[in-house]
Amino acid sequence: MLDEQSLAGVRRAMTNVADRQRDLAVAEANLQHAIRVLHATGGSLQEIADAVGLSRQRIHQIVKESGGVPGRRRRRTAGMLACSFCDRSQAEVAKLIAGPDTRICDGCVAAAAGRLAPVDATLRCSFCGKAGDQVETMADHDGAAPRICAECLLLCHEIIAEELGSPT
Ligand SMILES: [Zn+2]
Ligand SMILES: [Zn+2]
Repeated sequence: MLDEQSLAGVRRAMTNVADRQRDLAVAEANLQHAIRVLHATGGSLQEIADAVGLSRQRIHQIVKESGGVPGRRRRRTAGMLACSFCDRSQAEVAKLIAGPDTRICDGCVAAAAGRLAPVDATLRCSFCGKAGDQVETMADHDGAAPRICAECLLLCHEIIAEELGSPT
């Protein structure tokens, strides 16, 4: 026979661990995304490694794992990437920003800003992996995935403004 009270304690502790693990996974996804953005905006692996105090190998691993190194794990024809929201290819847009498995073009970044709305907790941002209850608002693609949260959208907007020199 198990002592009910002790069992309840174990269950509480397990829930706690599960919560922390989920938070950790989100935090790691955020870190990887941030490093990818740094890399995508022109930082070399060595520069990033030196600046943040991680090994160059680790940075390389993160960039590679999230599909950031060209020529690896590209399934689209001739390595041509396309926007996950409008399907226009890299060549057809001014700027394409890549997340872990999702990409968004400058046009869709601009359009998404007008579609931001609070979403259900079960839905996740395709870029940072945060759930609907962890972010204020998200924009989706015709009511379905991919989705982008307000934070990621702002980041994309900043990258585009910086690279294309468009007014913020
Ligand atoms: Zn697009
Ligand atoms: Zn996000």
